[in-house]
Amino acid sequence: MTLPALVIVGRPNVGKSTLFNRMVGRRQAIVRPEPGVTRDRHFGRGEWEGRTFLAVDTGGIAAPEDDPFSPLIARQTASAIEEADVVITMVDGAEGLLPQDAQIADMVRAAGKPVLLAVNKIDVKGAGDTLWDFARLGLGDPLPISAEHATGVAELLQAALARAPGEEAEPPQEGEIRVAVVGRPNVGKSSLINRLLGDERTLVSPLPGTTRDPIDSLLRRGDKVYRFIDTAGIRRRGKIGDRKVEAVSMILAYRSIERAEVVLLIVDATEGVRSMDAQIAHHIVDSGRACVVLLNKWDLVEKDSKTFDEAVRALREKLVHIDFAPVLSASALTGQRCERVFEAFETASASHRRRVPTRALNLALAEWTKAHPPPAGSKGRRPKILYATQASVAPPRIVLFASGMPHETYGRYIENQIREKFGFEGTPVRIVFRRKVGKPARGRGARAGRGGGRRGGGGRR
Ligand code: GDP
Ligand code: GDP
Repeated sequence: MTLPALVIVGRPNVGKSTLFNRMVGRRQAIVRPEPGVTRDRHFGRGEWEGRTFLAVDTGGIAAPEDDPFSPLIARQTASAIEEADVVITMVDGAEGLLPQDAQIADMVRAAGKPVLLAVNKIDVKGAGDTLWDFARLGLGDPLPISAEHATGVAELLQAALARAPGEEAEPPQEGEIRVAVVGRPNVGKSSLINRLLGDERTLVSPLPGTTRDPIDSLLRRGDKVYRFIDTAGIRRRGKIGDRKVEAVSMILAYRSIERAEVVLLIVDATEGVRSMDAQIAHHIVDSGRACVVLLNKWDLVEKDSKTFDEAVRALREKLVHIDFAPVLSASALTGQRCERVFEAFETASASHRRRVPTRALNLALAEWTKAHPPPAGSKGRRPKILYATQASVAPPRIVLFASGMPHETYGRYIENQIREKFGFEGTPVRIVFRRKVGKPARGRGARAGRGGGRRGGGGRR
Protein backbone atom coordinates (compact mmCIF):
# COMPACT_ATOMS: atom_id res chain seq x y z
CA MET A 1 0.00 0.00 0.00
CA THR A 2 1.55 3.27 -1.03
CA LEU A 3 0.15 6.43 0.40
CA PRO A 4 -0.59 8.72 -2.54
CA ALA A 5 0.95 12.15 -2.06
CA LEU A 6 -1.24 15.02 -3.21
CA VAL A 7 1.05 18.03 -3.36
CA ILE A 8 -0.44 21.53 -3.44
CA VAL A 9 1.64 24.19 -5.20
CA GLY A 10 0.92 27.78 -6.07
CA ARG A 11 2.12 31.27 -5.35
CA PRO A 12 1.67 32.70 -1.86
CA ASN A 13 -1.81 33.60 -0.70
CA VAL A 14 -3.85 31.67 -3.25
CA GLY A 15 -5.31 29.52 -0.46
CA LYS A 16 -3.04 26.47 -0.33
CA SER A 17 -3.08 26.18 3.42
CA THR A 18 -6.84 26.64 3.54
CA LEU A 19 -7.24 23.78 1.09
CA PHE A 20 -4.70 21.70 2.98
CA ASN A 21 -6.67 22.11 6.19
CA ARG A 22 -9.82 21.03 4.40
CA MET A 23 -8.10 17.99 2.97
CA VAL A 24 -6.81 16.81 6.32
CA GLY A 25 -10.13 17.63 7.93
CA ARG A 26 -9.09 20.22 10.42
CA ARG A 27 -10.73 23.44 11.26
CA GLN A 28 -8.94 26.47 9.98
CA ALA A 29 -7.12 27.64 12.99
CA ILE A 30 -3.94 29.03 11.67
CA VAL A 31 -4.66 30.70 8.38
CA ARG A 32 -3.49 34.26 8.40
CA PRO A 33 -3.90 36.85 5.70
CA GLU A 34 -0.25 37.84 5.25
CA PRO A 35 1.53 35.96 2.50
CA GLY A 36 4.37 33.65 3.40
CA VAL A 37 3.36 32.92 6.97
CA THR A 38 4.52 29.48 7.97
CA ARG A 39 2.02 27.04 9.26
CA ASP A 40 2.96 24.58 11.90
CA ARG A 41 1.92 21.61 9.81
CA HIS A 42 2.17 21.18 6.12
CA PHE A 43 2.11 17.42 5.81
CA GLY A 44 -1.07 15.66 6.86
CA ARG A 45 -2.96 12.46 6.49
CA GLY A 46 -6.38 12.75 4.98
CA GLU A 47 -9.15 10.34 4.17
CA TRP A 48 -11.70 10.52 1.44
CA GLU A 49 -14.30 7.85 0.79
CA GLY A 50 -12.23 5.19 2.46
CA ARG A 51 -8.97 6.11 0.76
CA THR A 52 -6.08 7.50 2.70
CA PHE A 53 -3.73 10.06 1.23
CA LEU A 54 -0.95 12.38 2.20
CA ALA A 55 -1.60 16.09 1.65
CA VAL A 56 1.40 18.38 1.28
CA ASP A 57 1.18 22.15 1.44
CA THR A 58 4.35 23.38 -0.22
CA GLY A 59 3.65 26.93 0.94
CA GLY A 60 4.22 25.88 4.51
CA ILE A 61 7.65 24.52 3.69
CA ALA A 62 9.08 28.04 3.69
CA ALA A 63 10.18 29.81 6.83
CA PRO A 64 8.54 33.22 7.32
CA GLU A 65 11.76 35.07 6.65
CA ASP A 66 12.38 33.22 3.42
CA ASP A 67 11.70 34.92 0.15
CA PRO A 68 9.00 32.81 -1.50
CA PHE A 69 10.94 32.76 -4.75
CA SER A 70 14.32 32.01 -3.31
CA PRO A 71 16.24 29.14 -4.88
CA LEU A 72 15.83 27.15 -1.68
CA ILE A 73 12.07 27.25 -1.80
CA ALA A 74 12.03 26.61 -5.51
CA ARG A 75 14.14 23.53 -4.82
CA GLN A 76 11.93 22.41 -1.96
CA THR A 77 8.87 22.79 -4.14
CA ALA A 78 10.55 21.05 -7.06
CA SER A 79 11.53 18.13 -4.87
CA ALA A 80 8.05 17.90 -3.38
CA ILE A 81 6.67 17.78 -6.93
CA GLU A 82 9.15 15.06 -7.77
CA GLU A 83 7.76 12.88 -4.97
CA ALA A 84 4.14 13.76 -5.74
CA ASP A 85 1.63 11.35 -7.15
CA VAL A 86 -0.69 14.18 -8.09
CA VAL A 87 0.14 17.88 -8.19
CA ILE A 88 -2.66 20.27 -7.36
CA THR A 89 -1.71 23.61 -8.85
CA MET A 90 -3.66 26.35 -7.20
CA VAL A 91 -4.39 29.80 -8.55
CA ASP A 92 -6.50 32.67 -7.30
CA GLY A 93 -9.65 33.21 -9.35
CA ALA A 94 -10.31 36.56 -7.71
CA GLU A 95 -6.92 37.95 -8.69
CA GLY A 96 -6.77 36.36 -12.10
CA LEU A 97 -3.81 34.94 -13.96
CA LEU A 98 -0.44 36.34 -12.85
CA PRO A 99 3.06 35.82 -14.27
CA GLN A 100 4.07 33.89 -11.17
CA ASP A 101 1.32 31.37 -11.90
CA ALA A 102 2.88 30.75 -15.29
CA GLN A 103 6.32 30.23 -13.72
CA ILE A 104 4.93 27.63 -11.36
CA ALA A 105 2.96 25.98 -14.15
CA ASP A 106 6.19 25.60 -16.16
CA MET A 107 7.80 23.82 -13.24
CA VAL A 108 4.79 21.55 -12.80
CA ARG A 109 4.53 20.64 -16.46
CA ALA A 110 8.23 19.86 -16.62
CA ALA A 111 7.79 17.25 -13.89
CA GLY A 112 5.37 15.28 -16.06
CA LYS A 113 3.15 14.27 -13.12
CA PRO A 114 -0.62 13.95 -13.11
CA VAL A 115 -1.82 17.46 -12.40
CA LEU A 116 -5.00 19.30 -11.53
CA LEU A 117 -5.63 22.99 -11.80
CA ALA A 118 -7.70 24.39 -8.94
CA VAL A 119 -9.01 27.91 -9.34
CA ASN A 120 -9.71 29.06 -5.81
CA LYS A 121 -11.85 31.81 -4.24
CA ILE A 122 -14.63 31.22 -6.70
CA ASP A 123 -16.98 32.53 -4.01
CA VAL A 124 -15.66 36.04 -4.63
CA LYS A 125 -17.97 37.97 -6.90
CA GLY A 126 -16.77 37.93 -10.50
CA ALA A 127 -14.09 35.32 -9.85
CA GLY A 128 -15.75 32.82 -12.16
CA ASP A 129 -15.48 35.18 -15.13
CA THR A 130 -11.76 34.63 -15.56
CA LEU A 131 -11.93 30.88 -15.03
CA TRP A 132 -11.02 29.87 -18.56
CA ASP A 133 -8.06 32.30 -18.73
CA PHE A 134 -6.26 29.76 -16.59
CA ALA A 135 -6.62 27.10 -19.26
CA ARG A 136 -3.68 28.86 -20.91
CA LEU A 137 -1.42 27.44 -18.23
CA GLY A 138 -1.59 24.11 -20.01
CA LEU A 139 -2.52 22.18 -16.90
CA GLY A 140 -5.88 20.92 -18.06
CA ASP A 141 -9.34 22.22 -17.40
CA PRO A 142 -9.64 24.69 -14.56
CA LEU A 143 -11.61 23.31 -11.61
CA PRO A 144 -13.44 26.07 -9.75
CA ILE A 145 -13.27 25.73 -5.98
CA SER A 146 -13.64 27.68 -2.81
CA ALA A 147 -11.34 26.18 -0.22
CA GLU A 148 -12.80 28.42 2.42
CA HIS A 149 -16.39 27.43 1.76
CA ALA A 150 -15.58 23.84 0.81
CA THR A 151 -17.14 24.29 -2.61
CA GLY A 152 -15.76 21.96 -5.26
CA VAL A 153 -13.27 20.43 -2.83
CA ALA A 154 -14.98 17.03 -2.93
CA GLU A 155 -14.82 17.00 -6.72
CA LEU A 156 -11.18 18.05 -6.59
CA LEU A 157 -10.30 15.24 -4.20
CA GLN A 158 -12.21 12.75 -6.26
CA ALA A 159 -10.34 13.80 -9.39
CA ALA A 160 -7.00 13.76 -7.59
CA LEU A 161 -7.49 10.28 -6.15
CA ALA A 162 -8.71 8.98 -9.49
CA ARG A 163 -5.31 9.97 -10.89
CA ALA A 164 -3.32 8.55 -7.99
CA PRO A 165 -1.96 5.03 -8.24
CA GLY A 166 -4.15 2.34 -6.73
CA GLU A 167 -3.38 0.90 -3.36
CA GLU A 168 -1.84 -2.51 -3.12
CA ALA A 169 -3.01 -4.25 -0.02
CA GLU A 170 -0.18 -5.89 1.85
CA PRO A 171 -1.45 -8.58 4.15
CA PRO A 172 0.79 -8.80 7.21
CA GLN A 173 3.01 -11.86 7.10
CA GLU A 174 2.98 -14.25 10.00
CA GLY A 175 5.93 -13.60 12.30
CA GLU A 176 6.98 -10.50 10.41
CA ILE A 177 7.44 -7.11 12.04
CA ARG A 178 7.42 -4.20 9.66
CA VAL A 179 9.60 -1.34 10.78
CA ALA A 180 9.81 2.16 9.29
CA VAL A 181 12.92 4.12 10.25
CA VAL A 182 12.16 7.82 10.06
CA GLY A 183 13.61 11.14 11.14
CA ARG A 184 15.05 14.35 9.79
CA PRO A 185 17.90 14.26 7.29
CA ASN A 186 21.26 13.43 8.91
CA VAL A 187 19.97 12.05 12.19
CA GLY A 188 21.59 8.72 11.32
CA LYS A 189 18.87 6.63 9.66
CA SER A 190 21.08 4.96 7.08
CA SER A 191 23.90 4.50 9.58
CA LEU A 192 21.52 2.76 11.95
CA ILE A 193 19.97 0.59 9.25
CA ASN A 194 23.42 -0.48 8.10
CA ARG A 195 24.33 -1.22 11.68
CA LEU A 196 21.20 -3.30 12.32
CA LEU A 197 21.29 -5.17 9.07
CA GLY A 198 24.96 -5.94 8.95
CA ASP A 199 25.88 -7.50 5.63
CA GLU A 200 25.50 -11.20 5.34
CA ARG A 201 22.25 -11.50 7.27
CA THR A 202 20.36 -9.23 4.94
CA LEU A 203 17.86 -10.36 2.39
CA VAL A 204 16.55 -7.71 0.11
CA SER A 205 13.11 -8.35 -1.24
CA PRO A 206 10.79 -6.68 -3.68
CA LEU A 207 7.25 -5.92 -2.63
CA PRO A 208 5.20 -9.07 -3.09
CA GLY A 209 3.33 -9.04 -6.33
CA THR A 210 5.21 -6.14 -7.85
CA THR A 211 8.04 -5.88 -10.29
CA ARG A 212 9.47 -2.82 -8.65
CA ASP A 213 13.06 -2.55 -7.54
CA PRO A 214 13.72 -4.03 -4.14
CA ILE A 215 12.92 -1.39 -1.62
CA ASP A 216 12.69 -3.21 1.70
CA SER A 217 15.30 -5.17 3.60
CA LEU A 218 14.51 -8.32 5.52
CA LEU A 219 16.36 -9.48 8.58
CA ARG A 220 15.81 -12.77 10.36
CA ARG A 221 16.42 -12.67 14.09
CA GLY A 222 15.42 -15.63 16.20
CA ASP A 223 11.87 -16.56 15.25
CA LYS A 224 11.11 -13.09 13.95
CA VAL A 225 11.57 -11.56 10.54
CA TYR A 226 12.00 -7.81 10.48
CA ARG A 227 11.05 -5.98 7.35
CA PHE A 228 12.76 -2.60 7.23
CA ILE A 229 10.60 -0.56 4.95
CA ASP A 230 12.00 1.43 2.09
CA THR A 231 15.65 1.09 2.98
CA ALA A 232 16.42 1.93 -0.63
CA GLY A 233 14.70 5.27 -0.14
CA ILE A 234 16.58 5.94 3.07
CA ARG A 235 19.89 5.30 1.40
CA ARG A 236 18.86 7.44 -1.52
CA ARG A 237 17.94 10.18 0.89
CA GLY A 238 21.38 9.90 2.39
CA LYS A 239 22.78 10.82 -0.98
CA ILE A 240 20.73 13.96 -1.36
CA GLY A 241 23.42 15.45 0.81
CA ASP A 242 21.41 18.55 1.50
CA ARG A 243 19.91 18.67 4.92
CA LYS A 244 17.50 21.33 3.84
CA VAL A 245 15.65 19.11 1.42
CA GLU A 246 13.27 18.03 4.13
CA ALA A 247 10.17 17.99 1.97
CA VAL A 248 11.30 14.84 0.21
CA SER A 249 12.24 13.04 3.38
CA MET A 250 8.90 13.91 4.91
CA ILE A 251 6.97 12.44 2.01
CA LEU A 252 9.07 9.29 2.03
CA ALA A 253 8.74 9.04 5.80
CA TYR A 254 4.96 9.35 5.69
CA ARG A 255 4.77 6.71 3.03
CA SER A 256 6.86 4.24 4.93
CA ILE A 257 4.89 4.90 8.13
CA GLU A 258 1.78 3.89 6.23
CA ARG A 259 3.31 0.51 5.45
CA ALA A 260 4.76 -0.05 8.90
CA GLU A 261 3.59 -1.62 12.10
CA VAL A 262 6.30 -0.09 14.27
CA VAL A 263 7.94 3.26 13.56
CA LEU A 264 11.45 3.95 14.80
CA LEU A 265 11.67 7.71 15.12
CA ILE A 266 15.29 8.79 15.28
CA VAL A 267 16.11 12.09 16.94
CA ASP A 268 19.59 13.59 16.93
CA ALA A 269 20.54 13.76 20.61
CA THR A 270 22.82 16.72 19.97
CA GLU A 271 19.99 18.75 18.41
CA GLY A 272 16.89 17.60 20.24
CA VAL A 273 13.35 17.63 18.91
CA ARG A 274 12.53 19.92 15.98
CA SER A 275 9.23 20.79 14.38
CA MET A 276 9.65 18.08 11.76
CA ASP A 277 9.97 15.44 14.49
CA ALA A 278 6.79 16.70 16.11
CA GLN A 279 4.95 16.54 12.78
CA ILE A 280 6.08 12.99 12.23
CA ALA A 281 5.01 12.07 15.77
CA HIS A 282 1.61 13.51 15.07
CA HIS A 283 1.35 11.44 11.95
CA ILE A 284 2.38 8.26 13.74
CA VAL A 285 -0.52 8.67 16.16
CA ASP A 286 -2.95 9.67 13.40
CA SER A 287 -2.14 6.52 11.53
CA GLY A 288 -2.28 4.37 14.67
CA ARG A 289 1.20 2.90 14.39
CA ALA A 290 3.37 1.66 17.23
CA CYS A 291 6.44 3.73 17.96
CA VAL A 292 9.91 3.58 19.48
CA VAL A 293 12.05 6.71 19.81
CA LEU A 294 15.82 6.57 19.50
CA LEU A 295 18.11 9.36 20.65
CA ASN A 296 20.99 8.79 18.29
CA LYS A 297 24.54 10.18 18.34
CA TRP A 298 24.60 9.54 22.06
CA ASP A 299 28.41 9.22 21.74
CA LEU A 300 28.57 12.98 21.12
CA VAL A 301 26.64 13.91 24.25
CA GLU A 302 28.52 14.83 27.40
CA LYS A 303 26.93 12.68 30.00
CA ASP A 304 26.49 12.27 33.69
CA SER A 305 24.04 10.13 35.61
CA LYS A 306 21.11 12.48 34.96
CA THR A 307 21.67 13.23 31.27
CA PHE A 308 19.47 10.51 29.87
CA ASP A 309 16.50 11.22 32.13
CA GLU A 310 16.75 14.90 31.35
CA ALA A 311 16.94 14.25 27.63
CA VAL A 312 13.87 12.03 27.84
CA ARG A 313 11.97 14.65 29.80
CA ALA A 314 12.84 17.36 27.25
CA LEU A 315 11.83 15.05 24.43
CA ARG A 316 8.50 14.09 26.00
CA GLU A 317 7.63 17.73 26.53
CA LYS A 318 7.80 18.28 22.79
CA LEU A 319 6.44 14.93 21.65
CA VAL A 320 3.41 14.72 23.91
CA HIS A 321 1.45 12.79 21.28
CA ILE A 322 3.71 9.80 21.61
CA ASP A 323 4.11 9.60 25.35
CA PHE A 324 3.45 5.86 25.01
CA ALA A 325 6.66 5.30 23.04
CA PRO A 326 9.73 4.00 24.84
CA VAL A 327 12.85 6.14 24.41
CA LEU A 328 16.28 4.61 23.93
CA SER A 329 19.69 6.13 23.42
CA ALA A 330 22.32 4.70 21.07
CA SER A 331 25.13 5.44 18.72
CA ALA A 332 24.74 4.16 15.19
CA LEU A 333 28.35 5.19 14.60
CA THR A 334 29.93 3.08 17.33
CA GLY A 335 27.16 0.51 17.46
CA GLN A 336 26.72 1.06 21.17
CA ARG A 337 23.28 0.01 22.47
CA CYS A 338 21.87 -0.38 18.96
CA GLU A 339 20.80 -3.99 19.42
CA ARG A 340 18.36 -2.98 22.14
CA VAL A 341 15.99 -1.58 19.55
CA PHE A 342 14.96 -5.12 18.63
CA GLU A 343 13.59 -5.77 22.08
CA ALA A 344 11.67 -2.50 21.88
CA PHE A 345 10.30 -3.44 18.44
CA GLU A 346 9.06 -6.73 19.80
CA THR A 347 7.39 -5.13 22.80
CA ALA A 348 5.77 -2.43 20.67
CA SER A 349 4.56 -4.93 18.10
CA ALA A 350 3.13 -7.22 20.78
CA SER A 351 1.32 -4.26 22.38
CA HIS A 352 -0.01 -3.18 19.02
CA ARG A 353 -1.54 -6.63 18.48
CA ARG A 354 -2.60 -7.29 22.07
CA ARG A 355 -6.17 -8.24 22.79
CA VAL A 356 -7.41 -7.86 26.33
CA PRO A 357 -9.97 -10.49 27.35
CA THR A 358 -13.36 -8.90 27.87
CA ARG A 359 -13.84 -10.44 31.28
CA ALA A 360 -10.53 -9.17 32.64
CA LEU A 361 -11.21 -5.76 31.17
CA ASN A 362 -14.62 -5.49 32.79
CA LEU A 363 -13.44 -6.72 36.17
CA ALA A 364 -10.77 -4.02 36.12
CA LEU A 365 -13.21 -1.44 34.81
CA ALA A 366 -15.53 -2.03 37.74
CA GLU A 367 -12.69 -1.21 40.10
CA TRP A 368 -11.59 1.88 38.21
CA THR A 369 -15.06 3.35 37.99
CA LYS A 370 -15.66 2.62 41.65
CA ALA A 371 -12.43 4.33 42.67
CA HIS A 372 -13.12 7.28 40.35
CA PRO A 373 -16.66 7.55 39.02
CA PRO A 374 -17.02 9.77 35.96
CA PRO A 375 -17.81 13.36 36.93
CA ALA A 376 -21.27 14.72 36.21
CA GLY A 377 -21.80 15.90 32.65
CA SER A 378 -23.25 19.22 31.51
CA LYS A 379 -26.78 18.10 32.28
CA GLY A 380 -25.81 17.42 35.85
CA ARG A 381 -26.20 13.69 35.50
CA ARG A 382 -23.37 11.36 36.21
CA PRO A 383 -22.87 9.00 33.30
CA LYS A 384 -22.59 5.35 34.22
CA ILE A 385 -19.94 3.28 32.54
CA LEU A 386 -21.67 0.02 31.82
CA TYR A 387 -19.15 -2.24 30.16
CA ALA A 388 -16.16 -2.27 27.90
CA THR A 389 -14.84 -4.38 25.10
CA GLN A 390 -11.80 -4.26 22.87
CA ALA A 391 -13.21 -3.77 19.40
CA SER A 392 -10.02 -4.13 17.40
CA VAL A 393 -6.25 -4.38 17.42
CA ALA A 394 -3.46 -2.58 15.55
CA PRO A 395 -3.93 -0.20 17.23
CA PRO A 396 -5.94 -1.47 20.18
CA ARG A 397 -9.31 0.19 20.29
CA ILE A 398 -11.40 -0.08 23.40
CA VAL A 399 -15.05 0.80 23.35
CA LEU A 400 -16.81 1.74 26.58
CA PHE A 401 -20.56 1.72 26.67
CA ALA A 402 -21.97 4.37 28.97
CA SER A 403 -25.28 5.95 29.84
CA GLY A 404 -23.91 9.33 28.77
CA MET A 405 -20.76 10.95 27.44
CA PRO A 406 -18.12 11.46 30.12
CA HIS A 407 -15.67 14.31 29.88
CA GLU A 408 -12.57 13.79 27.76
CA THR A 409 -10.34 13.74 30.82
CA TYR A 410 -12.17 10.64 31.95
CA GLY A 411 -11.09 8.90 28.77
CA ARG A 412 -7.53 9.76 29.67
CA TYR A 413 -8.01 8.35 33.16
CA ILE A 414 -9.31 5.11 31.71
CA GLU A 415 -6.49 4.97 29.20
CA ASN A 416 -3.90 5.39 31.94
CA GLN A 417 -5.50 2.64 33.97
CA ILE A 418 -5.64 0.34 30.98
CA ARG A 419 -2.00 0.99 30.23
CA GLU A 420 -0.97 0.38 33.81
CA LYS A 421 -2.92 -2.83 34.09
CA PHE A 422 -2.51 -4.36 30.65
CA GLY A 423 0.76 -2.85 29.46
CA PHE A 424 0.38 -1.28 26.05
CA GLU A 425 3.88 0.14 25.89
CA GLY A 426 4.79 1.42 22.45
CA THR A 427 1.34 1.61 20.92
CA PRO A 428 -1.38 4.23 20.76
CA VAL A 429 -4.62 3.05 22.38
CA ARG A 430 -7.93 4.43 21.21
CA ILE A 431 -10.58 4.91 23.85
CA VAL A 432 -14.07 5.38 22.47
CA PHE A 433 -17.24 5.98 24.43
CA ARG A 434 -20.58 4.97 23.07
CA ARG A 435 -23.87 5.93 24.54
CA LYS A 436 -26.02 2.99 25.40
CA VAL A 437 -29.62 3.76 26.03
CA GLY A 438 -31.17 1.62 28.73
CA LYS A 439 -34.48 -0.19 28.52
CA PRO A 440 -37.16 2.27 27.49
CA ALA A 441 -39.23 3.41 30.44
CA ARG A 442 -42.69 1.94 30.57
CA GLY A 443 -45.35 3.82 28.68
CA ARG A 444 -42.96 5.92 26.65
CA GLY A 445 -39.95 5.61 24.49
CA ALA A 446 -41.40 2.80 22.45
CA ARG A 447 -39.45 4.20 19.57
CA ALA A 448 -36.28 4.79 21.49
CA GLY A 449 -33.95 2.47 19.65
CA ARG A 450 -30.73 1.30 21.06
CA GLY A 451 -28.14 4.00 21.20
CA GLY A 452 -24.63 3.31 20.34
CA GLY A 453 -22.88 4.43 17.23
CA ARG A 454 -22.08 7.79 18.63
CA ARG A 455 -18.47 8.53 19.04
CA GLY A 456 -17.11 11.12 21.30
CA GLY A 457 -16.20 11.71 24.86
CA GLY A 458 -12.70 10.78 25.65
CA GLY A 459 -11.74 9.58 22.20
CA ARG A 460 -8.11 10.35 22.66
CA ARG A 461 -5.76 9.57 19.87
P1 GDP B 1 -1.50 30.20 0.94
O1 GDP B 1 -0.49 31.27 1.20
O2 GDP B 1 -1.57 29.85 -0.51
O3 GDP B 1 -1.37 29.00 1.80
O4 GDP B 1 -2.94 30.85 1.25
P2 GDP B 1 -3.86 30.77 2.57
O5 GDP B 1 -4.54 29.47 2.67
O6 GDP B 1 -3.05 31.24 3.72
O7 GDP B 1 -4.98 31.82 2.19
C1 GDP B 1 -4.68 33.15 1.86
C2 GDP B 1 -5.90 34.01 2.10
O8 GDP B 1 -6.94 33.67 1.20
C3 GDP B 1 -6.47 33.87 3.50
O9 GDP B 1 -6.88 35.13 3.94
C4 GDP B 1 -7.67 32.95 3.29
O10 GDP B 1 -8.68 33.19 4.24
C5 GDP B 1 -8.13 33.38 1.91
N1 GDP B 1 -8.84 32.30 1.22
C6 GDP B 1 -8.47 31.02 1.12
N2 GDP B 1 -9.39 30.31 0.43
C7 GDP B 1 -10.37 31.17 0.10
C8 GDP B 1 -11.61 31.03 -0.62
O11 GDP B 1 -12.00 29.96 -1.07
N3 GDP B 1 -12.34 32.17 -0.78
C9 GDP B 1 -11.94 33.36 -0.29
N4 GDP B 1 -12.74 34.40 -0.49
N5 GDP B 1 -10.81 33.53 0.41
C10 GDP B 1 -10.02 32.44 0.59
P1 GDP C 1 20.39 9.98 7.57
O1 GDP C 1 20.37 11.15 6.65
O2 GDP C 1 19.40 10.12 8.67
O3 GDP C 1 20.30 8.65 6.89
O4 GDP C 1 21.82 10.04 8.33
P2 GDP C 1 23.17 9.26 8.04
O5 GDP C 1 23.09 7.88 8.53
O6 GDP C 1 23.57 9.47 6.61
O7 GDP C 1 24.16 10.04 9.03
C1 GDP C 1 24.43 11.42 8.87
C2 GDP C 1 25.79 11.72 9.47
O8 GDP C 1 25.75 11.51 10.88
C3 GDP C 1 26.89 10.83 8.92
O9 GDP C 1 28.05 11.62 8.78
C4 GDP C 1 27.06 9.78 10.00
O10 GDP C 1 28.36 9.24 10.04
C5 GDP C 1 26.77 10.56 11.26
N1 GDP C 1 26.24 9.71 12.32
C6 GDP C 1 25.21 8.82 12.24
N2 GDP C 1 24.99 8.23 13.43
C7 GDP C 1 25.91 8.75 14.29
C8 GDP C 1 26.20 8.53 15.68
O11 GDP C 1 25.56 7.75 16.38
N3 GDP C 1 27.21 9.27 16.20
C9 GDP C 1 27.94 10.15 15.47
N4 GDP C 1 28.90 10.82 16.07
N5 GDP C 1 27.67 10.38 14.17
C10 GDP C 1 26.71 9.69 13.58
